[in-house]
Amino acid sequence: MTGAILFADIDEPGLATLDVYRRRGGYGPRLLKALQMPREALVEELKASGLRGRGGAGFSMGTKASFMPKGQIDKYLVCNADESEPGTFKDRELMQKSPHMLLEGMIIAAYAAGANRSFIYIRGEYAQQAVIVERAIAEAKAAGLIGERILGTDFSLELWLHRGAGAYICGEETGLLDSLEGKRGNPRLKPPFPANQGLYQGPTLINHVETLATIPHIVEMGAQEYAAIGVQNSTGTKLVSISGHVRRPGNYEIELGTPARELIYGLAGGPGEGRTVKLWFPGGSSSPVLTGDDLDVSYDFDSLAKAGTMLGSGAIIVADDTTSVVDVALKTAQFYKHESCGKCTPCREGTNWTVKMLERVKSGEATPMDLDIMASVCENIIGHCLCVLGDAMAMPVGSMIKKFRGEFEAYIEQARAANPWGSGHAPVEALEAQGALA
Ligand code: SF4
Repeated sequence: MTGAILFADIDEPGLATLDVYRRRGGYGPRLLKALQMPREALVEELKASGLRGRGGAGFSMGTKASFMPKGQIDKYLVCNADESEPGTFKDRELMQKSPHMLLEGMIIAAYAAGANRSFIYIRGEYAQQAVIVERAIAEAKAAGLIGERILGTDFSLELWLHRGAGAYICGEETGLLDSLEGKRGNPRLKPPFPANQGLYQGPTLINHVETLATIPHIVEMGAQEYAAIGVQNSTGTKLVSISGHVRRPGNYEIELGTPARELIYGLAGGPGEGRTVKLWFPGGSSSPVLTGDDLDVSYDFDSLAKAGTMLGSGAIIVADDTTSVVDVALKTAQFYKHESCGKCTPCREGTNWTVKMLERVKSGEATPMDLDIMASVCENIIGHCLCVLGDAMAMPVGSMIKKFRGEFEAYIEQARAANPWGSGHAPVEALEAQGALA
């Protein structure tokens, strides 16, 4: 496995301060080198590195930057620091311990995109991180690293931090833009895409914290060296947040293409004594689940897609063999139902129906036919919503029904036996027979 890049100095005391970050090479020759490159060459370098968005969609960062129109118009760079996908907590650590790495990445990305105004949209719950990033912005401004004519070049950048109010949907890029504009965070219809019409109707490049923080390292190493790490179509390293039934939960930086078994058992220590992995989410709670039989899959974008799931945000959530899959499905569905903005019908109604049907499974009122209905509801949500939130519920829940159907059926049978009357009232004859009316 290759050495760490983003986390190489992460536990260095004082790294969040400008002094220590500079001492570790931050804002050094690589920043000036980037700002002195012709914009097109910088974008080509980012493309050649193979860097793909680390927030979920996995789109090529350089290609996204190349979509920004040229010319003297107001353009924006927005950093998505909402990190609301359950199980994901890597950007929190990055911002908390190395905020200047993010800022340096933003300066270079803004230059590549031709943007002179930039925002960090940080989730409301990250109060401590917001204070730390604010402090870093103030330090960078005082040192002339953000503002007019950075490092004596003719590139200027303004940067603001904006705190969200804690809604999952504001992690969706267009919902985020609405929220940033002071509106309710509702996803927008696409097209137009943000590169053409984003914040305040202007061309906007949006990237996540980890993606932006990687950029200074690509400039320093060169695209070729960076692209040599990882595997084809999944270059570089990735921060993964491993949680759930593992002995050493936490954030780890891994080379893309590492077998999942090494991550779950090697880094995170695997489940407790005598327990086995029953299922795991490879990329946050919105990714279709894999089972204990899938641990040898290579952890990269293409291999996970081939296995029927996705790398997503890089949040691996592990559930051992003591876990009820019905409970996992219900919790997942409840979360997305709660977070649905309600703008489109398949998501608004579909998440609600799925929760209701799973509650029927729990209370002993369902029959195996309900599993078919639920699977069909999930299938009809996927690809029919305005944004990805509907899919984010339907994909994992649908995968659980498919892979653990036997367990769902057994649960239904047991719950019906334990509660033969469901939520209805037992007939008088039955109560008399039980002596309950005596
Ligand atoms: Fe809103 Fe859900 Fe439709 Fe997205 S998919 S726009 S969250 S209702």
